[in-house]
Amino acid sequence: MTYPTQPTASHFINGQYVEDTAGTPFDVIYPATGAKIATIHSATPAIIDQALAAAKAAQPAWAAMTGTERGRIMRRASEIMRERNHDLSVLETFDTGKPYQETSVVDATSGADALEYFGGMAATLTGEHIQLGEDWVYTRREALGVCVGIGAWNYPTQIACWKGAPALACGNSVVFKPSETTPLCALKVAEILHEAGLPAGLYNVVQGLGDVGAALVTDDRVDKVSLTGSVPTGKKVYAAAAAGIKHVTMELGGKSPMIVFEDADIENAVSGAILGNFYSSGQVCSNGTRVFVHTSIKEAFLKRLSERLATAVIGDPQDPATSFGPMVSQRQLDITLGYIEKGKAEGARITYGGNRLEKDGFYIEPTVFADVTDDMTIAREEIFGPVMAVLDFEDEADVMARANDTEFGLAAGVFTKDISRAHRVAANFEAGTCYINTYNDAPVEAPFGGSKQSGVGRENSKAAINHYSQLKSVYVRMGDVEAPF
Ligand code: NDP
Repeated sequence: MTYPTQPTASHFINGQYVEDTAGTPFDVIYPATGAKIATIHSATPAIIDQALAAAKAAQPAWAAMTGTERGRIMRRASEIMRERNHDLSVLETFDTGKPYQETSVVDATSGADALEYFGGMAATLTGEHIQLGEDWVYTRREALGVCVGIGAWNYPTQIACWKGAPALACGNSVVFKPSETTPLCALKVAEILHEAGLPAGLYNVVQGLGDVGAALVTDDRVDKVSLTGSVPTGKKVYAAAAAGIKHVTMELGGKSPMIVFEDADIENAVSGAILGNFYSSGQVCSNGTRVFVHTSIKEAFLKRLSERLATAVIGDPQDPATSFGPMVSQRQLDITLGYIEKGKAEGARITYGGNRLEKDGFYIEPTVFADVTDDMTIAREEIFGPVMAVLDFEDEADVMARANDTEFGLAAGVFTKDISRAHRVAANFEAGTCYINTYNDAPVEAPFGGSKQSGVGRENSKAAINHYSQLKSVYVRMGDVEAPF
């Protein structure tokens, strides 16, 4: 089976598609049916070398262009992405299994937002002037060089753009390795960037498993590594980058809390909990999977949640009416089913779902556990599937301590009508991205990233510029130089 928007080869290097059938082949599986839709070849050492050499050679001329020139190309790419949103969304749905209802408004569109935002910012990047009496210092904001991006499988287009856009705006070149589970979309991003006028070699895509990522991270030609992935992979990649004192951005996993106080608007809190647990079939890093609900509204919350979940349309993700699709892979489905069994065995109460669906593909029901306690496995470990844990609480200080009692610190949310409490709770959360009366918004204008073990650095916003550029200080003396001898 082939699809009209499918890329034509495994890799994209130096401005063109490249194939090397000597690389280990792996199948691309459509999660809605389990059918093979493409075969990709993992990058051989020769392909990795070709990509890094192209990136290294192309970068200085790109950095020497004005920000206005760089930004113009990026904004043109953003426009092409928007024009092709339908085809790109169909491909994203084939790659990930996420419903077209989601992909058509989130994936290529947020990738285009990143290219537009950082394309617009490219011309504004400056150093500063620091007067020191008659003398002065000026700073130059310079590119890092070659940036390696390594992606997770849940948002393949978005991740390829969230890493690529700030890197390119700052004058870097990019070698991106998608997850082998979802290898197709990043190739389209590369194709569009070059169609928009990006000089060859500046955005390359190479495929493969973790070993390809590891080969990229340890190469001397690489100056920066940006990973989106799990905490265990983050530790390995961070350590490998540290050996070469390379810059890093780590966007890792989470087990984020969402606190619903007794005065919350229950309908909005249920909406937030649905967005923070079941969007993309629960495969979102910032999900608020520990939902602390005040005991006085717990049963009302659970009842309304079940009623709303019963209206989810589960089915063919290419059908625009479908609002809940399959999981990305058999492996992720098995992991999720394993956690559901653990939840049951440890005494949590299923109030919705809990079963695999009797159909082709990797479908599972949205699942809610109530009466979850802090020590249960489903309250401690990241599941990365559509499984919500509802925990009880009565006191703000107590729930704050419990919400923060985790090694993760990616996101956190609070639902309340009490404005002072909302800001107090947000200030006390140990998390990089917090929400008041909403959940999982991720506009390009706002910094996104984790604290504690959930990550290092920030993506999106002006903050990302600091992670893709470095400052050089230049000291200028107007008079004579005084020396001690
Ligand atoms: P993994 O950590 O398994 O993999 C992430 C990427 O790293 C993949 O491309 C993988 O390759 C690659 N990789 C694996 N081992 C190495 C290595 N030793 N050196 C270099 N690269 C390596 O994550 P998943 O793909 O399973 O994604 C899910 C995880 O990502 C969850 O924990 C989730 O929370 C997190 N995530 C975080 C986000 C954030 O912004 N904070 C956003 C989205 C997801 P391959 O898989 O091909 O082997």
